[in-house]
Amino acid sequence: MSGEKLVLIVIDGLTPAMLEDAVERRTAPALRFLMEHGDYRRSVTTFPSLTPVCLASLATGAHPDMHGIPHLVWFHRGEQRIVEYGSSFGAVRAAGTARSLRDAVFSMNAEHLSRQAVTVYEALEGAGRVTAAVNMVCYRGPVRHLPTVPGLARAAYGPSRFFYYNLFESDVTGAPLAIRTRARGSVDEYAKAVGRWLVTRDGFDFLVFYLPDYDFASHAAGPEAAHDALARADGAIGALLAAAGGPDEFLERYSVVLCSDHGQTRVDRPARLEDSFSGFRLFRRGDGRDAELAITASNRAGMVYRLPGCRLETRELAERLDGDPGVGVVLFRENGEAVARREREELRFAPGEQGWRTSGDEGLLDQPGALERSWAALANANAGELIVSAAPGVEFADLGGRHHVGGGSHGSLELGDSEVPMLTIGLDSTPARIVDVAPLVLGHFGVEAQTRAA
Ligand SMILES: [Zn+2]
Repeated sequence: MSGEKLVLIVIDGLTPAMLEDAVERRTAPALRFLMEHGDYRRSVTTFPSLTPVCLASLATGAHPDMHGIPHLVWFHRGEQRIVEYGSSFGAVRAAGTARSLRDAVFSMNAEHLSRQAVTVYEALEGAGRVTAAVNMVCYRGPVRHLPTVPGLARAAYGPSRFFYYNLFESDVTGAPLAIRTRARGSVDEYAKAVGRWLVTRDGFDFLVFYLPDYDFASHAAGPEAAHDALARADGAIGALLAAAGGPDEFLERYSVVLCSDHGQTRVDRPARLEDSFSGFRLFRRGDGRDAELAITASNRAGMVYRLPGCRLETRELAERLDGDPGVGVVLFRENGEAVARREREELRFAPGEQGWRTSGDEGLLDQPGALERSWAALANANAGELIVSAAPGVEFADLGGRHHVGGGSHGSLELGDSEVPMLTIGLDSTPARIVDVAPLVLGHFGVEAQTRAA
């Protein structure tokens, strides 16, 4: 019998195959214990399959059309600037380091995440529950927190118990500094110490325990190679079990959802989406005058924003990408329908009374949940007129020219980028989509899923 309280564990970038393999080979004892006591399936994330987008979907139960976060890097039409949450150090420098840090730490939650979407922390705290989050990128909640770092004064609104990379710490836990030695897993070391502290005190009703280091390692090593990083994530989860007095005692106290935010696939060649639009005046930081297009690409997804000076229609821009070997599928909207285009083939689709109305080449979008995910990505007011899903094996260079060729990446509609492991213990169901996680969590506490009026 599992507990009434609940822990949501998110291992960033973990593929189902890596988890299943580690459990079978007995190299991840904590994960193996949880898998033996739960219901497991492979599930589908949202699109673009990039961390800020996916974690916003996990925290709100909504796709980007509702939660508003379009990509890891995007063009803010209202502020006429590029928002870069952290594709790479080079990309952050290109977008402006201080501005990027402000966007990632504060603005994503305080401004970019739509008010229409209600986070699990907001809904549960509203029902009198104590929620907690460790390093969770999407954290918006009702409780005001001041930074622990001297010289920073801006408050963030999060769950009651809020720990975010030493920048915000609602309680003094003695956990070590998080950001010093990223490659050796120092962020997860910090999470492990804070998680141990929280479970020892049983200090929450609902905890989001987010472990980002695996994704970092898998980008570098490739999607089937980050075994050490997975072992470290397993160690952090093991620390939670031990803090409850042992694995069985942990499950007596807590129900569990364990998943990742997206998958990863191997990348063997880079592409620059900007190169497909040579001859256009592209938006640049510090000089947006007369720009025709803003292009934001990172990992395996790209956006093309049509600016007022652009002489071509959206469809003509999509046609420019015909024959581009880096491009898998180009998505855009036309006459109330969505269009997926590859070479000269097209699939048109829109939601109908009984499921999707489609016409054209169905084979264009045969990835899991592709119609729903594409539609929702396009319907996001912050998305570009074109959304580009990269071809298999291709990664788009980011603003700083960086990519992970020879390693792993994600972001596209393709199966490997989109599929996530999903494990539940003590819950009514095991979600087939990550947007079903938040409603499941709320239902566990007897709270109804909500949205706000636009
Ligand atoms: Zn990643």
